[in-house]
Amino acid sequence: MNELHDASPYQSATTAEQFAAHLAAVRARIAAACARVGRDSGSVRLLPVSKTVTAERIRLAVAGGCTELGENKVQEALEKSIALADLPLRWVIIGHLQRNKAKFVARFASEFQALDSLELAAILQQKLQDENRTLRVLVQVNTSGEASKFGLEPATVASFIRELPAFPRLEVRGLMTLAILDGNEARVRRCFQRLRELREQLRTQIRAEGLIGIEMNELSMGMSGDFEIAIEEGATIVRVGQAIFGPRALPDSHYWPEPAAH
Ligand SMILES: *Cc1c(COP(=O)(O)O)cnc(C)c1O
Repeated sequence: MNELHDASPYQSATTAEQFAAHLAAVRARIAAACARVGRDSGSVRLLPVSKTVTAERIRLAVAGGCTELGENKVQEALEKSIALADLPLRWVIIGHLQRNKAKFVARFASEFQALDSLELAAILQQKLQDENRTLRVLVQVNTSGEASKFGLEPATVASFIRELPAFPRLEVRGLMTLAILDGNEARVRRCFQRLRELREQLRTQIRAEGLIGIEMNELSMGMSGDFEIAIEEGATIVRVGQAIFGPRALPDSHYWPEPAAH
């Protein structure tokens, strides 16, 4: 056993049976969280996050029941999508996208959960037109103020979504956030509450302004460490990596920017 495994609360899965067991355990926790707040467990979609996991191991996860995969980095996702092209998988990009990678997302991804600029929306629209595809999109919001420099400030989202009907190949369906990463439950919960409150405001705005093609039903929030809190606060999609695949060798700072210095 290396230190990583000793320090992590998560178990690595290396067979299809172990993956099936991990998925069942996460689904049971989702159902229990739903029951606590009177929600139907069918109202929460479990998105397995496979970043850093090899294509060979993803194959076992698919045999264990995964049908879609979330990836933080486009290049990594693209390589896996090619290696696993024989499987009927949905690929979901959940991390910040650089403009020069938009063409790859337009080519193979089914969903993009980190839209945070109109410039990127315009490039995606163009590349999707070239590919004759559409893309489900969530707008990423920075609800923590410090845990991630990506995502729009909550106060700017209303004016942002007003511009999105100009990009009809983007099927805008809701919001995504990462909660503060400091492990304080009250602060984590506050991030999720902010995202839900924002969605309610945006729904009112969409109706009042008649924004065509823009829907605000999805709240993608909650990861291995906090998905139960997110469900209590209304998550419709939880993005779960380590609780399914096991601990990651690379630190999260490889995927998320460091908190801004005070
Ligand atoms: C890695 C990642 C997750 C999943 O985190 P786990 O701790 O592995 O559950 C969720 N969302 C985003 C954006 C991620 O990059």
